[in-house]
Amino acid sequence: MIRVTAIEPESIAEELGLVPGSELISVNGRELEDFLDWEFLTADEEFLLHVRQPDGEEIEFEIEKPAGEPMGASLEPVRIRRCANRCDFCFVDGNPEGLRKVLYIRDDDYRLSFRYGNFATLTNLTARDTARIKEYRLSPLYVSVHATDPVIRRWTLRNPDAPDIIAQMRDFGEHGIQFHTQIVMSPGVNDGAILEQTLADLYAFGPGVMSGSVVPVGLTEFSKHSRVREPTVDECRAAVATVEKWQRTALEERGHYWIHGADELYLRADLPLPPEERYEGFEQVENGVGSVRWLQRRIADERESLQGWAGKRIGVVTGIAMAALMPQVLAPLAEATGAHFELIPVENDVFGGRVTTAGLLPGTAIQTALKDRHDLDLALLPGECVNDDGLFIDNMSAALVAASVPMEIRFSKDFADALQEPIAA
Ligand code: SF4
Repeated sequence: MIRVTAIEPESIAEELGLVPGSELISVNGRELEDFLDWEFLTADEEFLLHVRQPDGEEIEFEIEKPAGEPMGASLEPVRIRRCANRCDFCFVDGNPEGLRKVLYIRDDDYRLSFRYGNFATLTNLTARDTARIKEYRLSPLYVSVHATDPVIRRWTLRNPDAPDIIAQMRDFGEHGIQFHTQIVMSPGVNDGAILEQTLADLYAFGPGVMSGSVVPVGLTEFSKHSRVREPTVDECRAAVATVEKWQRTALEERGHYWIHGADELYLRADLPLPPEERYEGFEQVENGVGSVRWLQRRIADERESLQGWAGKRIGVVTGIAMAALMPQVLAPLAEATGAHFELIPVENDVFGGRVTTAGLLPGTAIQTALKDRHDLDLALLPGECVNDDGLFIDNMSAALVAASVPMEIRFSKDFADALQEPIAA
């Protein structure tokens, strides 16, 4: 059963009389578990829908509609599938105490992998999940492979029951499912010869593996440092060399680059980022792969619409990680807008200095960095550092930060999104 939370005006759901609180029980006698069932089973032209209204009345509707037309009902959020692993580098283990409860949940959910591109390990699939992935043909899936050697993978995931990922992917591949893959690289565990073998196995898989990325492991002050460490410059350089060797092979044999190093890998290797064309469709930009080149592309594409900023002083809040790369983005942005941009790298005082990603910046640290900056006309904050409720990781609200700093603040994912409208006079 799934509960309805909102109804789109003039939709089929409204016509049927569904309201927030209506319970969707089954379609053609098949019980509904989540949004996947709802979307796939109601995609047909004709079906029987069994609902329970908030007053307890149960109704069966015989629906006829154009195939693929959405029903227009928003559903309660899915109960996130918990992770079966215990990776030494797990971000959740690295969380300090006192954060929002949801931040302590280890999620590993193939449904979110399909819908939002979240990486999943596929180690917690039930027989029913496997059947659903095949039946609904959930493709592409985003998979954390880490290593194709089953022993190394089990070690990496700290899960002795983790299935052989290649056998699993092959089984899904026979049902038309494709994959984007990532390898979180832990030095001494899955780099070197293991990384080489992993990439060889994924490459041999053929077009079913659409892309891959190698991301250096990131730790916090609270991670299990006795078991895992961050890679050195030389280890990152070796990983870049392996990635680029496979890029050359893939380009020559298949006409595309296929595998990518995360921006962070190049940064830690102290090597320049690859040119934009190497990232092809920016398939893993959300995973920090090609972020700088993507931002540069967005600024170039939106150049004409970024007017009215000449002479303004704009602060750009970022985490320490991106600070080294951001000048490559701010230079073309300044050139396109005529504004003066100042990078404001903010240290993470909740997770500690090791956590340098912008998305985890606490509101308090941002507030402290901006509260005396009367010289700025505007401050841009990373869009990913607040959740859907406008809360930073330390529970401070965006509204509170806005009220306590002397300039307008805007959240931005790519700069172009936040600079379309001039600031209030
Ligand atoms: S797969 Fe590993 S890193 Fe991801 S949530 Fe599970 S334990 Fe944490």
